[in-house]
Amino acid sequence: METTFDLQCPFCGETIVLDFYPEDGKHQEMITDCEVCCQPIQFDVRFDRDGEASITAERAQ
Ligand SMILES: [Zn+2]
Repeated sequence: METTFDLQCPFCGETIVLDFYPEDGKHQEMITDCEVCCQPIQFDVRFDRDGEASITAERAQ
């Protein structure tokens, strides 16, 4: 199963590679700073019952 995801920083557009695992929960939220522009990004991860992930990256408040 694919657990590595290429995501995009909503501030600078840089590609960010992160690992998410369905064992950690069907709905996960994480805030991490972009390595390039250092802005806080909020990731919202949802796994469906097949283990397919849908991930959104938003600017953290
Ligand atoms: Zn960035």
